Amino acid sequence: MDDCIFCKIIKGEIPSKKVFEDKDIVAFNDINPKAPVHVLVVPKKHIESLANVDAANKDLLGKLLIAVSEIARKTNVDKSGYKVVANNGEGAGQLVLHLHFHILGGWMSKPHWQV
Ligand code: AMP
Ligand code: ZN
Repeated sequence: MDDCIFCKIIKGEIPSKKVFEDKDIVAFNDINPKAPVHVLVVPKKHIESLANVDAANKDLLGKLLIAVSEIARKTNVDKSGYKVVANNGEGAGQLVLHLHFHILGGWMSKPHWQV
């Protein structure tokens, strides 16, 4: 999608701090973090949200959740705990209409962090 921020990040047209990449998925730090660790896990395929998936996306959705688990380990939030959030649709606060999972964590290392 030409006017999609995350598609532009995937194509390298907008810079990002990548923490993970493979042929199907990219993950990068959120530009406006809501937690000490705030990573977005994004499929390279442009899918608008979970409202737009079906059984044809089974493998990709499985890979995304496994990537979430691996990135949580890599960013050291797996033991202290983390939230995984997907906003679906404007009424849920989805600003970027390209499916993504937020990984939010790291509060234990910065106990005074305010969310
Ligand atoms: P959502 O509201 O679930 O669509 O979340 C979109 C997220 O994308 C927000 O947390 C933004 O801070 C983040 N975001 C927007 N633009 C960028 C960007 N260029 N690089 C990294 N994160 C971004
Ligand atoms: Zn996109």
